[in-house]
Amino acid sequence: MGKLEIKDLHVSTKDGFEILKGVTFTVEDGEVAALLGPNGHGKSTLLNAIMGSPHYVVTSGDIIYDGKSILDLKVDERAKLGLFLGMQYPAEIPGVNNSEFLKAALNARSEKPISFYKFYKILKDACEDLKFPFEMTSRNLNEGFSGGEKKRNEILQMDILEPSMIMLDEIDSGLDTDAINIVAKEIVKAEERKATLLLISHYARLYDLVKPTKSIVIVNGKVAAVGGEELFKRIDKEGYEWIEKELGIKIQKEQPKVVSLGTCATRENYERKQ
Ligand code: ADP
Ligand code: MG
Repeated sequence: MGKLEIKDLHVSTKDGFEILKGVTFTVEDGEVAALLGPNGHGKSTLLNAIMGSPHYVVTSGDIIYDGKSILDLKVDERAKLGLFLGMQYPAEIPGVNNSEFLKAALNARSEKPISFYKFYKILKDACEDLKFPFEMTSRNLNEGFSGGEKKRNEILQMDILEPSMIMLDEIDSGLDTDAINIVAKEIVKAEERKATLLLISHYARLYDLVKPTKSIVIVNGKVAAVGGEELFKRIDKEGYEWIEKELGIKIQKEQPKVVSLGTCATRENYERKQ
């Protein structure tokens, strides 16, 4: 439900470090696409920029959803259009109750507030499908959740909100085999209701279950290759080395950079060699 067009997108951090350097690709309405690439090359930045994260600045290019540019829209306005991002590192939000948050998100997208009973049923059913303990919905959002619980909580939000454009950032990291199967089942349900999907994963296991038909590979902040399922299967078997040899693209490595924090403390920051 909704075609996503990324056109020559350049994205920087607020302090001017350019991460995406001209990204162009399309995910067709109802298509399931895999977004691949070595660590630190801009995958999460891309999904955050599509969702409208204030941490990033789109310096040029366009993001078009359903035929309209969404660049001027804020995160909540993009969410209202049906965009959803399951984050790589979901934030812990003390003081915000998980179920209240879910209800507010649902209400923000409907004309009149949902009744208590209807919401309770939707939440209970979604928890059962996900084998997610119902008690966790009365805790604070992600506070003290394990890595796997945070990821399943993202999927709980996806199940409840039924977005039309779903982006999931390494949703399978931190999940055991059973949990991956459960999460994949929910993703397949979203596929069946014709959502458009853009999925980042480093593991073929998830892709084998959700069956993307398009692969997009990001290297050095640009699209290095676009193909079908053969592309993610090749990367799973061979890694990214062949891209250097066959496509002549030198893959930049993450470089640790020591940053001084004052007189006696240092911190290693990872920054790509330019
Ligand atoms: P990926 O998801 O492909 O692993 P990311 O998009 O998270 O990569 O990051 C790409 C590069 O941009 C990395 O070098 C990362 O450290 C850097 N980066 C991402 N976000 C920020 C930020 N807010 N401030 C500074 N650097 C950032
Ligand atoms: Mg990432």
